[in-house]
Amino acid sequence: MSTDLAAGTSSANSSLGTQSVDDMSRSFALTTRLDALVAWGRRNSLWPLPYGTACCGIEFMSVMGPRYDIARFGAEVVRFSPRQADLLVVAGTITEKMAPVLVRIYEQMLEPKYVLSMGACASSGGFYRAYHVLQGCDKVIPVDVYVPGCPPTPEAVLDGIMLLQQMIRSHQPRPWKDNWKSPYEQA
Ligand code: SF4
Repeated sequence: MSTDLAAGTSSANSSLGTQSVDDMSRSFALTTRLDALVAWGRRNSLWPLPYGTACCGIEFMSVMGPRYDIARFGAEVVRFSPRQADLLVVAGTITEKMAPVLVRIYEQMLEPKYVLSMGACASSGGFYRAYHVLQGCDKVIPVDVYVPGCPPTPEAVLDGIMLLQQMIRSHQPRPWKDNWKSPYEQA
């Protein structure tokens, strides 16, 4: 008898619980746009592929470390496979010989994808004003954010990441990306 009573009470409680959840769900509503929700997920889960060729590659490591902790921006999952990354971080000097490899890696990344050029060498060739050095990786791939410096400070790199996050959030048009064509494409 007492067991039945207990079971009855428990069932009454559970139906009351369900009712209160129903009531709560009527008392508020969360509305958003699907594209805003997707952009929120995208900007807070960037997976970088560090294309480190020189000192800036080492500098990028300090951004990953506990002091500057890029994980605070959701971008700590470094991938060395282009198919698992959506943020190409070009960190260092790019030679003419290396440029087709950079393009190949960029092409292998899945959409949506972004490029951050880290430091003077990646952005402009730096002090290597020489025939064998690419005078900026934007000569071959579309760059979304340029981070100045030689080397850039970790704060500057984080600033670049935050700028990119703002671009994703505001759905900023990227004509440099939309109109990009591989310079090595066969005619
Ligand atoms: S910008 Fe400066 S620190 Fe970065 S790769 Fe070039 S020389 Fe090295």
